Amino acid sequence: MKTKVLLFVASMILSATAIRAEKAVAGPAGGRLLDTEPARAEFVINAARKGEIRFYDAALKPLAPVQQVVTVTAEPAAGRVKLEVEKTEFGFVTKEAMPAGDPYRVVVQVRATPEAKPQNFRLDLALGNCGGCQRAEYACTCESH
Ligand SMILES: [Zn+2]
Repeated sequence: MKTKVLLFVASMILSATAIRAEKAVAGPAGGRLLDTEPARAEFVINAARKGEIRFYDAALKPLAPVQQVVTVTAEPAAGRVKLEVEKTEFGFVTKEAMPAGDPYRVVVQVRATPEAKPQNFRLDLALGNCGGCQRAEYACTCESH
C-alpha cells in the first residue's frame, strides 16, 4: 500500500515537472500550446466547453488543418472517454462537451498525417482561473507553479 502511494506521488511530481517545462508560451486563443511538429497546435476549451485543437505556423498565425489526425481522450474519475472530433476551419473540435468532474487528465494525440508517428500530449484539465496569470489553470503560463 505504502509503495503504491509513493509511486503515485512520484508520478505526480514527474508529470508536474513535464507540465512546467511546457508552460512558457501562451496559446493565442487562451489555451495550452502543444509542441507539435511541423505546425504548432493549441488545446483550448471553448465557451461551449468543447475541446478545440487549433493549428498555427511558427509565427503563431492560424493554419487550416491539412492532413492532421487528432484524438482527444478525457480521463475523469468516472471513467475514460474518447471524444469524437470534427474538422473546423482552424483545426478540430470535439463533437461533445468535455466531461464534468475536472480537474482530470486529458490526452491529446496529434499526427501530422494519417501515416505519421503520433505525438501524445498529457495535460491536467483544470478549468478554474489562475490567480497569477488570469488564464485557465490548464493553460497557466506562470513560472512559479
Ligand atoms: Zn498562472
